Amino acid sequence: MDILSLEMKEERNRLLRESVRQIAVSKVAKRAADIDAAGVFPWDMAELFFQQGFLSIMLPEEMGGMDGDITAFCIISEEIAHACGSSSLMILAHAVGLMPLMMAGTDEQKEHFFGRVAKDHALAAFALTEAEAGSDAASLKTTAELQKDYYVLNGRKVFVTNGGAADLYAIFATTKPGSRTEGISVFMVEKDTTGFSIGKREEKLGMRGSDTTDLILENAVVPKESLVGAEGKGWELAMMTLNLSRPAIGAQAVGIAQGALDFAMDYAAKRVQFGQKLADFQGVQFMLADMATVVEAARALVYKAAALLDQRVYERDKMSAIGVDKLSAMSKSYASDIAMKVTIDAVQILGGYGYLRDYPVERMMRDAKVTQIFEGSNQVQRVIIARNLLRKYWDKSLT
Ligand SMILES: Cc1cc2nc3c(=O)[nH]c(=O)nc-3n(C[C@H](O)[C@H](O)[C@H](O)COP(=O)(O)OP(=O)(O)OC[C@H]3O[C@@H](n4cnc5c(N)ncnc54)[C@H](O)[C@@H]3O)c2cc1C
Repeated sequence: MDILSLEMKEERNRLLRESVRQIAVSKVAKRAADIDAAGVFPWDMAELFFQQGFLSIMLPEEMGGMDGDITAFCIISEEIAHACGSSSLMILAHAVGLMPLMMAGTDEQKEHFFGRVAKDHALAAFALTEAEAGSDAASLKTTAELQKDYYVLNGRKVFVTNGGAADLYAIFATTKPGSRTEGISVFMVEKDTTGFSIGKREEKLGMRGSDTTDLILENAVVPKESLVGAEGKGWELAMMTLNLSRPAIGAQAVGIAQGALDFAMDYAAKRVQFGQKLADFQGVQFMLADMATVVEAARALVYKAAALLDQRVYERDKMSAIGVDKLSAMSKSYASDIAMKVTIDAVQILGGYGYLRDYPVERMMRDAKVTQIFEGSNQVQRVIIARNLLRKYWDKSLT
């Protein structure tokens, strides 16, 4: 990319950030406390995000999208999360549900499914996890059996974000039970599919407006044309999808952390104890300084990972070779760990008031927690980082 186009890209992203921030401040922030308290999916936010194009950012322009990249996706995640974690999670899960299609879909599939997003405002979801297959997702048991011109899917998915709200589901299933990664394929399943239904809706600690449900597949009849990529290549697509989405989870965590830091700073600048502002105590200043430093460091890591992904290398080995696995995992785990710490410190700075529902920092603390758990727990991220760091030594010791 030459300097001019780099400059143009930076300018485009600066404008995007400004406009998303304006929506976040004027429309999303004032809904955040109610969304959390009610614990119901915010359809008004979904419609707003469709209108603004946030739910079609990465779709090709000719299919109603903005042809945005991962950096643009991260900017939207961060700015919306600054105002409302649940609303940002809706955007994230939707984009993640469309990623296998984006990387490996045929023109016909893209036209159909992206068309559903652009024209019908259909939301998407990503369904990999099962009750017995969490971190060890390759042990999934949902089966897909080819019969004539359709697959029959059987099994149950859990923890599906946008579960009840979505119309389109990227569902991972195996055509070779017991053979782990080798047998896994991914299918785009529509909500009105025979044999498909929504199961239990979860009550959660945080992200309470996000819709988290089970999906039930009982002899679900899925047309052969809904298989994304080749049969048995679903695991690669799942791993590439997670590589693409982890920086955006990191961006979400950065947004939540920045929101908590901003609120704590304003509070400390006003609250008086011992005859002076909290912000005049050096002990509080040091806390704020440390919080701001780690937020900035996390942001840098997130956008470094995003820039690497903007090369749009969608082949598993090539992705690993340019260091995507490691940086994506670092950005997600570091940003979510600091988001947890920063939100806890923000509660501390507000003292007893930080513990009350009247102030937003306890919500931000509850919302931050899950960013350490989903899209691969932070322990799993460290497994990925270490594996990538140490591979060269292991390879040598084999020769
Ligand atoms: C709110 C929410 C939304 C979610 N949304 C989605 C979604 O949209 N789609 C989807 O498919 N999934 C989703 N998930 C599932 C999520 O990705 C899993 O919860 C996560 O991968 C962990 O799996 P588990 O919960 O089964 O925990 P387990 O795998 O049972 O892990 C339990 C603990 O053991 C640790 N652990 C496991 N393996 C190792 C290891 N090798 N080394 C060290 N420690 C290890 C973990 O880090 C964790 O601390 C969501 C989860 C939540 C809570």
